[in-house]
Amino acid sequence: MGYKTDIEIAREANKKPIQEIGAKLGISSDDLLPYGHDKAKVSQSFINGVQKNKNGKLILVTAINPTPAGEGKTTTTVGLGDGLNRIGKKAAVCIREASLGPNFGMKGGAAGGGYAQIVPMEDMNLHFTGDFHAITSAHSLLSAMIDNHIYWGNALEIDIRRVVWRRVVDMNDRALRQITASLGGVANGFPREAGFDITVASEVMAILCLAKDLKDLEKRLGDMIVAYRRDRSPVFARDIKADGAMTVLLKDAMQPNLVQTLENNPAFVHGGPFANIAHGCNSVIATTTALKIADYVVTEAGFGADLGAEKFMNIKCRKAGLSPDCVVLVATVRAMKMNGGVAKGDLGAENVDAVNEGCANLGRHIGNLKSFGVPVIVAINHFVTDTDAEVQAVKDYVATQGSEAILSQHWEHGSKGSEALATRVAEIADSGVSQFAPLYRDEMPLAEKIQTIAKRIYRADEALMDQKIRDQLKLWEDQGYGNLPVCMAKTQYSFSTDPTLRGAPTGHSVPVREVRLSAGAGFIVAVCGEIMTMPGLPRVPSAENIHLNDDGQIEGLF
Ligand code: ADP
Ligand code: MG
Repeated sequence: MGYKTDIEIAREANKKPIQEIGAKLGISSDDLLPYGHDKAKVSQSFINGVQKNKNGKLILVTAINPTPAGEGKTTTTVGLGDGLNRIGKKAAVCIREASLGPNFGMKGGAAGGGYAQIVPMEDMNLHFTGDFHAITSAHSLLSAMIDNHIYWGNALEIDIRRVVWRRVVDMNDRALRQITASLGGVANGFPREAGFDITVASEVMAILCLAKDLKDLEKRLGDMIVAYRRDRSPVFARDIKADGAMTVLLKDAMQPNLVQTLENNPAFVHGGPFANIAHGCNSVIATTTALKIADYVVTEAGFGADLGAEKFMNIKCRKAGLSPDCVVLVATVRAMKMNGGVAKGDLGAENVDAVNEGCANLGRHIGNLKSFGVPVIVAINHFVTDTDAEVQAVKDYVATQGSEAILSQHWEHGSKGSEALATRVAEIADSGVSQFAPLYRDEMPLAEKIQTIAKRIYRADEALMDQKIRDQLKLWEDQGYGNLPVCMAKTQYSFSTDPTLRGAPTGHSVPVREVRLSAGAGFIVAVCGEIMTMPGLPRVPSAENIHLNDDGQIEGLF
């Protein structure tokens, strides 16, 4: 039997007008600012009006260390949201917006897959409601104002060798990683080295996703460090006087976007920070708003649980005062096999031994998540090639870890396939057993926070930090940044910093190569291993297969 592609399924969706979707959550059409017929932003006055409501239950979807294809976190998030609605619960989904880079590169879309998708998937994966364009513009305004300040005399005495504010574009374009700016003569300013990141790596994106409201957004934008002087003192965006105008550009982008699933259930799609140098979750404003108007909110964190869930808990929940009621850990038989040493080309063949071997990875994630005081349930995201024996092997293993695994077939069957998962998740969330606490206290010294994550989550012997890095952390503590959480930037493929070390490695250490301060977003980034803030396109980018057909429909997005 052939299976339809994601975009074919999405195109056949029976979408409802967005006003009907809003009505399910009590949002009147006056409070929806429509972008076409099937997308809308939620007004700030509505958000202000629901603040006194009681919060619904918060459910986090995370995953084991992924295979390069992604393990279906978004697909499972959407499928679980639909499953909860199917069993009569008032549930909403909260996920990130898509970046153009991965769409035209390799990873494909970000709207879920199969019969668990968010629509309109084409819009969501392309320009959507323009939020990312607004972020690019706000970021670029600050870039331009910095060089303009230098051009007109540099009253702030910026050391032009130490401008840390880079430029952004929402595209995978390796040619722009490192550039020389202001060439061409006196009228063009002072030549200096510069470079581009992809928009989702902008600190503006991280701020938009962590800010409570527009006031908070403006303050955080002003707090960003854009450059240093010769005496190493920081120059802030506020000193450049860019924060007000940037906030104006971001005014609409701050409002959460409402769309729907294939089954016409509400989904908030808002924000999309990188999951390495930033925290990788959808916006705080979308999550907190959804919690005020839905009884269950299902949300996703990027990458595997060692990175995504850790940051969700230690950064997003800490900052926004959120507390997850249940964590769903997505596992696939394929990824178990890969973690068990099977090569990508051999994943099709049944291999129970490799599944058993790879389960060590799953077990460690279960233990880690429990250490946050939250109940954990494993969702086996079913692929049609999985055999019964392989699925049973995962279930048996999970039982030995004091948790339970439920097979979920939302990709193939939509909510019919996720009913069992939804029923159990609702029970767990309702039981009130969660006793969430972040892993470390705000007051813990920065170096110790890094050690804590390395030891307790990555199960490393230690984090290695040379004197230069320790001195830097100490300096930030002296400057009043010691209370910030740490945002780890590390490979998503392994608990260690070596992407080829799958499973549950031990005896490793975590070298911290560099630390960065995101003073506006409010975290310290610890860079462990290679990280890329401007990806490149693969040899054959997916863009080569994307086109409009004779009916004007988009082909090739997936
Ligand atoms: P993640 O959020 O973990 O990165 P996604 O949910 O975006 O992963 O899924 C990645 C890709 O895998 C998508 O193209 C999706 O259609 C596909 N996929 C997810 N689950 C399944 C499944 N059960 N069977 C087949 N393909 C799947
Ligand atoms: Mg995803």
